[in-house]
Amino acid sequence: MTTMDQITALCKRRGFIYPGSEIYGGFANSYTYGPYGTQLKKNIKNLWWSMFVERREDMVGIDGPILLHPKTWKASGHVDTFNDPMVDCKNCNARHRADHLVESKLDGSADGWSLEKLSNFIEQEQIKCPKCGQREFTDARQFNLMFQTQMAKTGSDSTAYLRPETAQAIFTEYKNVIDTMRVKVPFGIGQIGKAFRNEITPGNFIFRVLEFEQMEIEYFVHPDQWREHFDAWVALMYDWCEIIGLDREKIHELDVEGDALAHYSKKTIDFEYEFPFGIKELYGCAYRTDFDLSNHERESGKKLKWRDPATNEEYTPHVVEPTFGVDRTVLAVLSEAYQEEALEDGSARTVLKLKPVMSPVKVAVLPLMKKDGLPEKAREVLALVQAFGNCEYDQSGNVGKRYRRQDEIGTPVCVTIDYESLDDQAVTVRDRDTMAQERVKIDDLVSYLREKYFL
Ligand code: ATP
Repeated sequence: MTTMDQITALCKRRGFIYPGSEIYGGFANSYTYGPYGTQLKKNIKNLWWSMFVERREDMVGIDGPILLHPKTWKASGHVDTFNDPMVDCKNCNARHRADHLVESKLDGSADGWSLEKLSNFIEQEQIKCPKCGQREFTDARQFNLMFQTQMAKTGSDSTAYLRPETAQAIFTEYKNVIDTMRVKVPFGIGQIGKAFRNEITPGNFIFRVLEFEQMEIEYFVHPDQWREHFDAWVALMYDWCEIIGLDREKIHELDVEGDALAHYSKKTIDFEYEFPFGIKELYGCAYRTDFDLSNHERESGKKLKWRDPATNEEYTPHVVEPTFGVDRTVLAVLSEAYQEEALEDGSARTVLKLKPVMSPVKVAVLPLMKKDGLPEKAREVLALVQAFGNCEYDQSGNVGKRYRRQDEIGTPVCVTIDYESLDDQAVTVRDRDTMAQERVKIDDLVSYLREKYFL
């Protein structure tokens, strides 16, 4: 079983993810995606955009601002209800999620419990502070998760919020999209971008951070048809999980019920994944009804309806929202791919068995020697394989070490150029997973690799 320590060590060692602001001693729960992590993230976002926006006639994409008019957050309910319950330890002042403390004792969820019920449980069960071990806490109270900031402009209220979800920029642009694009309900708007939440207890590496990225779709439907669209999106989310290489068996569907539902939702299915630290939410699909469009219509005074040109029926569309966290996708993909293998010769290797579409480096080109025309030949080959995306040229050290390095970053295939290559115009192709090697003519290399790895 892979551990979080193995994942974080590999991420640091191999340039996927570094602790944020490390030269200043770190800045809690912030991370920098290094060169390979950035490439992996980009692969995820490009694939998502291609699958859900570009290749669908019923979808368009936008790129909205992080700072929206503050009235947006009033209308969306986030100012009043985007809260988590918290308590402070009276001994060490550490702040904790009250529901998480309860859940550490309870075999189940404390989602939707009242503040009083949470406080009583914590007291009755004599729950200990995870930091100092003492048992005295303040009463539970609500904490709003939105980050606030101040605008330079003067005025009665200069407070603005960093968006806690990308979704609202889609709702506020709904009117512009229907006025300028040839869309017809049912249709969707997709967006990828940063979101910010002042989480009380961030942690588990990039699983719960304050600044993260979301890939969200707001899909607008006739109110009578929400169910069929909801089911279709859930099925597509499973397809997505398979395409990025997640094991279906490790994904668990949670039908979120009652008080545990977000304030805007009538039905939500959480996709939970078996992360190394437990089964936790990866994605969600929510039926948001007409909650957002109706509230924005009320708050803005602008009509946000849809008139069906075929039937002349006018209505506020309902919304199905599939939402995907980019950072949790990175973590799930890495956890799934990470393996340590004992080899026949008694040695061991760490390998990331990423799907080629996820791999930060598609092909590594390795000249056996740094001289005698091999580097030149290798660079010719590099130019050919760059058709598949980001590739690497590496001429340093012994070739076994170079293979191991590529295994650790999940490169599906290495191409080695040796002295024979100069005569027979062929190269050795080494497969990451089987470690098998095959001789392939340079003229056939691109079609060979396309068929085997990059279709
Ligand atoms: P959780 O219950 O874990 O706090 P949530 O239900 O509040 O998550 P949503 O509001 O549904 O999450 O957000 C949509 C997606 O955004 C989540 O499924 C997750 O992938 C991602 N996400 C939410 N909060 C965070 C965070 N603090 N750090 C990283 N990703 C996050």
